[in-house]
Amino acid sequence: MPRYVEVAVPVPLYQTFTYLVPEDQAGEVSLGSRVVVPFGRRTLTGVIVDERSTTSLDRVRPIKDALDGAPLFSETMIRFAEWLAAYYVCPIGEAFRTMLPQGMSPESSQVIRLSEDSTVDVATLRRTAPRQAAIVAALSDHPGGVKLSFLQKKVGADALYSQLEALENKGVIVRTTSGAKSVKARTNKGVQIVDDLLADDERIGELLAELDRSAPKQSLLLSILYARAAREGNRPVLASDLLRDASTSHSVLEGLSEKRLVTISDIEISREQILAEVLDDEPAIHDVDENSIVSNDAQRELIDRIADRLPDGYATFLLHGVTGSGKTHVYIESIKRVVARGDQAILLVPEIALTLQLVERFRSVFGQRIVLLHSRMSEGERFDGWRRAARGECDLVIGPRSALFAPLPSLGMIIVDEEHESSYKQYDAQPRYHARDAAVKRASLEGCVALLGSATPSVESYYNATHGKYSLLELPDRIDNAPEPSMSIVDTATARKQNLMRGSLSTQLIAAITERMARKEGTILFQNRRGFASRLECTNCAHSPMCDNCAVTLTYHKGIDRLKCHYCGYERAREKSCELCGMHDLREPGVGTQRVEEDLQAHLPSAKVQRMDLDTTSRKGSHRAMFAAFGAGEIDILLGTQMVAKGLDFPRVALVGVVSADTQLMLPDFRAGERTYQLITQVAGRAGRRREVPGEVIVQTAHPENPAIQFAFAKEYRGMYQQEIQARMELRYPPFSRFVVIEIRSKKQELAEEHARTFRRLFPDIGPALEILGPTAALYWKLRGWYRFQIHVKNIKAHDPGGRLFHHHFKRAFENYARDFASREVEVIVDVDAYSMM
Ligand code: ADP
Ligand code: ZN
Repeated sequence: MPRYVEVAVPVPLYQTFTYLVPEDQAGEVSLGSRVVVPFGRRTLTGVIVDERSTTSLDRVRPIKDALDGAPLFSETMIRFAEWLAAYYVCPIGEAFRTMLPQGMSPESSQVIRLSEDSTVDVATLRRTAPRQAAIVAALSDHPGGVKLSFLQKKVGADALYSQLEALENKGVIVRTTSGAKSVKARTNKGVQIVDDLLADDERIGELLAELDRSAPKQSLLLSILYARAAREGNRPVLASDLLRDASTSHSVLEGLSEKRLVTISDIEISREQILAEVLDDEPAIHDVDENSIVSNDAQRELIDRIADRLPDGYATFLLHGVTGSGKTHVYIESIKRVVARGDQAILLVPEIALTLQLVERFRSVFGQRIVLLHSRMSEGERFDGWRRAARGECDLVIGPRSALFAPLPSLGMIIVDEEHESSYKQYDAQPRYHARDAAVKRASLEGCVALLGSATPSVESYYNATHGKYSLLELPDRIDNAPEPSMSIVDTATARKQNLMRGSLSTQLIAAITERMARKEGTILFQNRRGFASRLECTNCAHSPMCDNCAVTLTYHKGIDRLKCHYCGYERAREKSCELCGMHDLREPGVGTQRVEEDLQAHLPSAKVQRMDLDTTSRKGSHRAMFAAFGAGEIDILLGTQMVAKGLDFPRVALVGVVSADTQLMLPDFRAGERTYQLITQVAGRAGRRREVPGEVIVQTAHPENPAIQFAFAKEYRGMYQQEIQARMELRYPPFSRFVVIEIRSKKQELAEEHARTFRRLFPDIGPALEILGPTAALYWKLRGWYRFQIHVKNIKAHDPGGRLFHHHFKRAFENYARDFASREVEVIVDVDAYSMM
């Protein structure tokens, strides 16, 4: 009987393809294993997702080779890939590619060598497995190892992979990837755009236009750097990565550097290395022996509730606990219970470099039974880690979002720490999955427990936890009962009128810093500089023009002098004076860390200030030096961006100042309020970490009455949540809808706009299940030379609980579009549950 398999190949098509299994390969082909298949004139590597004995197709081509003796993906993981592909609307081949570490992608070349302690008897092998013996013979002449292509020539390519697999399992050979790099700290050339350019949209526009004419490659490179800085903050990126992404040469970069548009510096590649050094230096940061901690009553109750569910299969818990309430201890104890049952766990963290202290705590308990998987590891290390996980040689996998795909044989729990962090959302490649939501899905498929933890849960998760979808666990008190820092708000608009502002700093903040300096206590100043989202603000009353439909700030488009809502497309001419107070100018606000540093120098000349953003920490060892100096009291004020808001923990910090809470608050994003609350709460958590030094937090804002700020001030998570959920319900934002961004982009503006309108027309108005808005120009309407238009869809859950209607109509629109209109010059990207609308 012929045997057919359905293979998912990495091509941009929403389907799988049928192949015939030749009889001599039958033994090596199984569900979830990789096969090499002919595809058109190409040869691709795909994953078998289904098997059958008949097909209605006339002509079916045979597979060329099987790559894995044992399946790479369990049946559950195949179902998971299918869900990822369906929910996030991406080709299933792309979903599989995302699930494999880079070292396993077929493109990377393997190096094979004989194992040093191999005791194989070649004579026996020659009798029982002649091909394996031939491989061993070929390898014995090359102790340094050979490439796969070499072996293919020497002993033939047929089913080579399965022979290698067999030899590896016997311990005869060792496989590594040739891309394997050392993880030692290395410096390399880093590039970033000069700061001044970022603050000046007009100038960058002119520059790009001019470069388009004189040096188009430089223009492209500059756009890439600009977009990256806009998205992630301005920090050096590896020159080699950048040049590869832009497929351009070093001379183009030199050109930009000569024009002083970019700076090139030495940067440290491995950030955890630096942090590790810092931690070695300051063991006092975490001085408690994790193994000696005895759970308190509150923790024990939660641990028992979680453990009770372990035998039953799927359940999701949301653990809401203030910073320092002992959540991490609950994770550790829960994982111990999982391990005691013979199962394994995954712990997801937002960014491994910023959570090194956390990793160290897990190490002290689980030792070598931990596999770390993250993007800063070399390809070879990730490859090894993945395979250790697959063989069940660990109890715990820790890593950022991609660690969710660790192929553990008996998964018992997935923990998502800081579940509200937006870094869990993949925004730059298909599938654009949210690792927290996908974790809950994987847990349900695996029949295991998902545990989401946060001091400031996302509105979506809290809604789920209070509506029966998840179970809510709470740790309302700090372990040490240290008093919460006292919080005060400075109204900068009023202070300015009363002449109480010194540049970006209020006299109240300056006085508080002075007091701390006299006591040799430390101050952290936080400024989340995002000079990009150009909104307008009244110089008198601080009002910013808002969209009535969407409750987000309108974006000012300088070129056309108009205000636009980039959610719904509403636009109007820019008003001359403020619509609220009626008499004053509207200006573009925005203060960066550099400005704050200048203000400090002018008004606190004796203060020793260290600016710490990714601009100043690019040189080797700079983190370490800064932290050490601050810890030792040689620096009075640590001023920085996100970098000082999270992660490390300094006992001597008594004062935390938020220079402006408005940069986050006024972003044109429906999550702006929630994020502001989260940010202030996070930053405030840096103050008063020790009972002996009571903490104080000063938040400067032009919007003291804003609910997000008021609730952060009052430390009322539930108040913030209720306010948010009400607004989200009225405007039908998540969790009441799936918010989908469909982006249509092209290097030609007219094409992008025209295709966006076409795509919109192909979407039928099917009533209340789908609210379709736009198309409208994206906030960053030109990135990397691409003109970007967006259609926003609110897929209302009350009318379409499983999202079936959306998927049906989107796919139909997409297929019609692809058939009748698709152009090589236009790309269509879909982002389900979008987090960034920029
Ligand atoms: P969170 O993760 O919620 O911020 P942690 O788990 O880090 O809280 O706990 C805060 C501090 O309290 C840590 O230093 C931790 O070692 C300590 N701790 C946690 N649980 C206990 C306990 N039951 N007894 C004593 N100390 C504890
Ligand atoms: Zn609007």
